[in-house]
Amino acid sequence: MSSTVMAEIATRASDSKTDVQGKNTQVICCTYCPSKILNPGAASLTNITYPLPLVLCKRDEVDKREIINEYWLVENINSFENIGVTYKAENVKFLVCADCEKGPVGWQDLSTFHSYIALSRVKYQKPAL
Ligand SMILES: [Zn+2]
Repeated sequence: MSSTVMAEIATRASDSKTDVQGKNTQVICCTYCPSKILNPGAASLTNITYPLPLVLCKRDEVDKREIINEYWLVENINSFENIGVTYKAENVKFLVCADCEKGPVGWQDLSTFHSYIALSRVKYQKPAL
């Protein structure tokens, strides 16, 4: 892709991570270890505001939260390559890395079973060709 086209598309930081349908173009990985969370095309960018507990906070500190409003929506938990589901709070379960258990990287809505992965809590890798 030419740099001119890239410049037109890149109106927001998150846009370069998505294709025209808003799906992720890159492999989504854990920030702390090499574990792969999602393959390209498995999630779609969504704007939803949810206060996610701070990374590495203890179970009794879930009141310490960061307001995040950009998430990758994953409608089916089977779309994940690897994901860990942790303790339940309110009507959600928090999602962590399946390998190193760091997180939360996102949350799952227990009424819809949709999962949301915070854009800022994961790492991106170009898919291997
Ligand atoms: Zn990890």
